[in-house]
Amino acid sequence: MEIKLERIHLQSDLLSPLKGFEKISVPTEVRIDPLTKRRSRIITWGLPSKGKFDFSQMAEESKGCFFCPENLFLKTPQFLKEIVPEGRICIGKAVGFPNLNPVGSYGNIVVLCKEHFLNLNQFIPEMYEEGLSVSIEIIRRTMAFDSDIRYWQISQNFLLPGGSTILHPHLQVIGDPIPTNEMEWLLNASSSYHQRNKTIYWNDLIQIEQELGERYITKIGKVHWFVSFAPIGFNEVCGSVEGHGSITTLSKEEISSLAKGIVSTLKYYEDKDLNSFNFSIYSISDEASYQLLIRIISRTPIQPHYLNDWTSFEVLQSELTSNIFPEDLCREIRPYFP
Ligand SMILES: [Zn+2]
Repeated sequence: MEIKLERIHLQSDLLSPLKGFEKISVPTEVRIDPLTKRRSRIITWGLPSKGKFDFSQMAEESKGCFFCPENLFLKTPQFLKEIVPEGRICIGKAVGFPNLNPVGSYGNIVVLCKEHFLNLNQFIPEMYEEGLSVSIEIIRRTMAFDSDIRYWQISQNFLLPGGSTILHPHLQVIGDPIPTNEMEWLLNASSSYHQRNKTIYWNDLIQIEQELGERYITKIGKVHWFVSFAPIGFNEVCGSVEGHGSITTLSKEEISSLAKGIVSTLKYYEDKDLNSFNFSIYSISDEASYQLLIRIISRTPIQPHYLNDWTSFEVLQSELTSNIFPEDLCREIRPYFP
């Protein structure tokens, strides 16, 4: 096993006006991701919470959107008859259909619920069980129509800081014949790891994290939940599904495990006065060395004098930051998981 958890300690010395201009030293920790070798900075002096934002006016002004029940079946697109003859895919309250503004070969939307707006503690596992089941059905039917589409992301962008213009909770399900940058980095690194070690990287990582106990949250069914050693976003929580590379092969129990982990993470975010988040499930077929991964991150919340969390560091230097030590996040979030 060649997994290395490398840290680089940087230090900045200055004369602080907060301490009568005495010399102080401010540390920064840089961590190197053991798989991709990408560097992340742990920066813990973020701005304090300004309390919970009241969404009632924003929700009231925007209700009656395309995804609200009175419009959903009238104003959203339908699939090609060759892919989904019935036009849309419905499971429980979740409804899937093509995105009117796709970004790729097969861009789709899955509306999660009838409610136009939900606070993060109002999401329940059934919404994600149904939403992920619709997503899987879209992927299965699209791949039966076009077998070249091996690379799928199931993502959620929640609220404006997460990049969504529509408040109504929904997933993006996007399939392409080529991987995204992130998928390619994960695939190339896990494939070369497999060649060198004859093992699957994520199984080795999970074993190490379970032994260390500092960043391993819990196991729900076959889904291992943990905090990344070198996060690529704020409050990043990851899940890896043992024995699967594509989401299409998951059983009901594994879908339910993913749903529970997502909802647990959102409840923690709510308690930290956060309100916006992103997640992505990276689903790739026919790659023996790859294991299905979900990453969930919080975004800086909607609040007066909103502060974007992507600065020149992230946008122009490709150096990603975390606002909490992963070990602290793991300790805090563990009680939220079943
Ligand atoms: Zn709506």
